[in-house]
Amino acid sequence: RAKEEGRNRWTVFDASMRDAVRERVEIEVALRAAVAQEQLSIAYQPIVELPTGRLAGVEALVRWEHPVRGWLGPNMFIAVAEDSNLISALGAWVLRESVRQLARWRADGVVDDDFWMSVNVSPRQLGDAAFAERLAAVLQQAGVPAANLVLEITESVMVEGSELTERVLVELRTLGVRISVDDFGTGFSALGYLRRHPVTGVKIDRSFVKGLGTSTEDEEIVRAVVAMSSALRLSVVAEGVETEAQRDVLVTLGVPLAQGWLWGKAVPPDEFAARWSLGGVGERVAARSD
Ligand code: C2E
Ligand code: MG
Ligand code: MG
Ligand code: MG
Repeated sequence: RAKEEGRNRWTVFDASMRDAVRERVEIEVALRAAVAQEQLSIAYQPIVELPTGRLAGVEALVRWEHPVRGWLGPNMFIAVAEDSNLISALGAWVLRESVRQLARWRADGVVDDDFWMSVNVSPRQLGDAAFAERLAAVLQQAGVPAANLVLEITESVMVEGSELTERVLVELRTLGVRISVDDFGTGFSALGYLRRHPVTGVKIDRSFVKGLGTSTEDEEIVRAVVAMSSALRLSVVAEGVETEAQRDVLVTLGVPLAQGWLWGKAVPPDEFAARWSLGGVGERVAARSD
């Protein structure tokens, strides 16, 4: 049989393509049910001030316990959700749930008044004319000020976004919600984009953080982003900080905020509160052991 497949490579190709399509359809069907039944969950990763390590905010990262495959990260299913129209319902749920979580932490005194929640939004969500209005209702219902919410958008929103998307971004800013450009530096946006769009911050992609301490090139890139952000009055968060050496370079370069395994991975809300409540400086030893 192997010999036969070797002779006819198209057979092999067709079979693997068919498997890929089948797997995708299978994920889509299960995801549709999970979204409808609210079976997703959210893990929370701390964002800290540099150099103190004091808790400043948190990023909400969606997780899914697949009935057969077990826990899946967003890289396994966000693209499927985007291609199948599920992203609106999924994204709306993540926003509602994370804003409610923020309200609970504020009420319980786990976090202070300035603490913010960062939530990833897909380009598709921002192409919905009623997005800002519905988000305003979510915030009001939870009693959370708009300024305590940061939406993380992709560079593609600035580059390829429609007039409608642009209007939604302006409405969000009018509400007081902050807007940060995620994975900054990996897309095709230029400096001018940051000025033309109503964004309030950037998150330096972890690919540029990786080489800090060993690559002068990465260091120069981060230096340039810091200079640009200060000129445009944008906030800066460095992503994917794993080592003390990386952190030390970020401190030297004047990066004010950071996120990464050095302080903690994304964890369920109870675990987050247990580690970080009272705004305490996270114990780095504990943070590194997970
Ligand atoms: P992102 O927004 O850039 O989130 C950061 C990702 O880096 C997360 O992966 C996080 O777990 C991981 N990370 C954090 N610190 C470190 C570190 O020190 N080292 C390394 N190697 N990785 C680190 P995750 O949770 O798998 O999420 C992947 C992406 O999925 C996110 O990237 C985001 O673009 C997307 N995503 C997550 N949740 C949502 C959501 O609710 N909606 C949408 N549309 N996208 C989401
Ligand atoms: Mg993000
Ligand atoms: Mg990111
Ligand atoms: Mg990233």
